[in-house]
Amino acid sequence: MSVVALPIVSAADAVLSLRGSFCPGCRGRKKPKQTVCFECYSKLSRPQRQNLYKRVGSGYEAAVASALQTLGVETLECK
Ligand SMILES: [Zn+2]
Repeated sequence: MSVVALPIVSAADAVLSLRGSFCPGCRGRKKPKQTVCFECYSKLSRPQRQNLYKRVGSGYEAAVASALQTLGVETLECK
């Protein structure tokens, strides 16, 4: 398994992605207000999931970056 660099996630992109229904983890669909779809979410570790409940500006961006890295995604894509 190749190692993906930690993506850079801006607050603006994190919020945009959070509001949308595009899962940045698998490019499928997710529910708005959730970071990724259930399938991607289930691949994350417990601490990673807990970090996704942090607020934007208080660790959420870093939590998204860590989650995407685990899912093998290099950049946060917003749609
Ligand atoms: Zn997904």
